[in-house]
Amino acid sequence: MLPAQARLTLRKLYWLSRGWLYAGSKVYCPICEGSFRTFLPFGSERRAQALCPQCHTVERHRLLWLFLQEKVKIRERSLEVLHMAPEPMLQTRLKSLLNLRYRSADLTSPVAMDHVDIQALPYSDNTFDLILCSHVLAHVPDDQKALQELRRVLKSDGQLLLQARLHPHAHTLEKTEAITPQQRLQAYGQADRYRNYGQDFGKRVAAQGFAVEAVEYALSRSPEEQARLGLGKGELIFVATPQVHEAK
Ligand SMILES: [Zn+2]
Repeated sequence: MLPAQARLTLRKLYWLSRGWLYAGSKVYCPICEGSFRTFLPFGSERRAQALCPQCHTVERHRLLWLFLQEKVKIRERSLEVLHMAPEPMLQTRLKSLLNLRYRSADLTSPVAMDHVDIQALPYSDNTFDLILCSHVLAHVPDDQKALQELRRVLKSDGQLLLQARLHPHAHTLEKTEAITPQQRLQAYGQADRYRNYGQDFGKRVAAQGFAVEAVEYALSRSPEEQARLGLGKGELIFVATPQVHEAK
């Protein structure tokens, strides 16, 4: 067994070498800034044009990175950033921006800077200007508690950016009787999930004191450009800002 860090370095070298194999000019990954002849299929339900052959990012990562640059102006602002369950390549890009004070956090990930439970964060109230939390909450036993914690550590004028896998059904599927990993596998199709979000995801976030806007940011591009950047279809970024309650 190699130490986790050595395994990550080897994996990175492997992916870099794959980038050469797919050299071309048909598609462009804004994260590793590489041009390739194609993105690769990826996912349990195989999606064509999903995976960057060089940096291993998928549609939602590229979309978030564009949003961060163009809407959040991440390169220009001095921000305290918390990145939950950091995607390695996005973390690398964010860490390189010297205008940010950046922390990443996860329960167990070897690439995270802090090992924390999202349901009981160790940070002070009103610490962060920006929190990134992508495809995390479905894997947390109490997502409402996690959202309360994210709201607590977010500044009152800060932004929480969420992405989640949404199922077509209206309501989130949560079965209290699914307790063991085997039962959860049966209930949700994955042993490490605690629920399958439906179209009410934004409402569930709003219920914890946020104003929520769902942004389909790929639509900021022409269809040709969406394909060239491999942005996928229907991927939403939920922009959540703390709801201020007027004193009565
Ligand atoms: Zn890439």
